[in-house]
Amino acid sequence: EQNVNNIKHEYLKLFQSENKLLPFTWIVIRIDGSHFHRFSEVQGFEKPNDEQALKLMNVSAVAVLEEFNDIVFAYGVSDEYSFVLKKNSQLYQRRASEIVSAVVSFFSSTYVIKWKEFFPEKELKYPPNFDGRAVCYPSYEIIRDYFAWRQVDCHINNQYNTCFWMLVKSGKSTREAQSLLKGTQALEKNQMLSQLFGIDYNTLPVIFRNGSSVFWDKEMVTDNGVVAKSHKKVVVDHPNIIEDDFWGAHPLILET
Ligand code: ATP
Ligand code: ATP
Ligand code: MG
Ligand code: MG
Ligand code: MG
Repeated sequence: EQNVNNIKHEYLKLFQSENKLLPFTWIVIRIDGSHFHRFSEVQGFEKPNDEQALKLMNVSAVAVLEEFNDIVFAYGVSDEYSFVLKKNSQLYQRRASEIVSAVVSFFSSTYVIKWKEFFPEKELKYPPNFDGRAVCYPSYEIIRDYFAWRQVDCHINNQYNTCFWMLVKSGKSTREAQSLLKGTQALEKNQMLSQLFGIDYNTLPVIFRNGSSVFWDKEMVTDNGVVAKSHKKVVVDHPNIIEDDFWGAHPLILET
């Protein structure tokens, strides 16, 4: 009976399309909070940057790296995170929908479970969701460019948002703030911050300016100043990932 059923329904698998990701390329899974403009308002996030919310994103990303061995690096800013798999990963035979859905659902459920650790006073009002996509990057230069792109985006948005919210908090309407900022360059925004509000942009917390990077690193345990043991640990840091320094110091992350 079971066997007849299998034969009869086998043809249904023909309708599944394959969606296999290109071999020997870095797979980037980028997830992004759905309607987090609204979510951040409903949950009363501090503007422009709620540090607890960023830290909740970061611990959720750490959990993803600990869960999926093939993920070697992640970069996060605002409500988004990019996860990169090692080039020769065979996770789910490189089927895009399985990889994306597994990562995005694991991230989302971790975010919800850990919410109360970061917001003990704030009830989670409704279940947040994230969308996800997979993109393959075929060369070292291009994957480096990808992360530079995300970090430049972080800088541009953070500068704009910092100015915008300072203007609003100083009594401007949102429309006035928008029109004051329209067409301004980075330098003008920095001048506005220092002249109007006495803020030196470069002294703002590095987590806001650089976003967060998550990766495996060696943790040295010392005993009387001597390295007793070292073990690998997922760490969160806020390096510049546009320049070469970070990548030079961690050559194994994007090893080919
Ligand atoms: P979409 O569903 O298209 O992604 P969205 O509303 O999530 O829409 P995004 O472009 O992803 O729009 O922007 C995320 C928004 O979430 C930011 O504009 C900001 O308002 C809010 N947000 C995310 N993280 C934080 C944070 N840590 N602190 C304050 N606000 C945040
Ligand atoms: P995979 O990751 O490949 O999906 P899996 O362990 O989830 O592996 P499935 O073929 O999806 O395997 O089967 C789901 C398994 O989960 C079942 O075999 C059963 O053991 C368990 N399971 C799911 N739902 C229930 C349930 N309501 N009650 C008891 N066991 C359940
Ligand atoms: Mg989106
Ligand atoms: Mg979003
Ligand atoms: Mg976003």
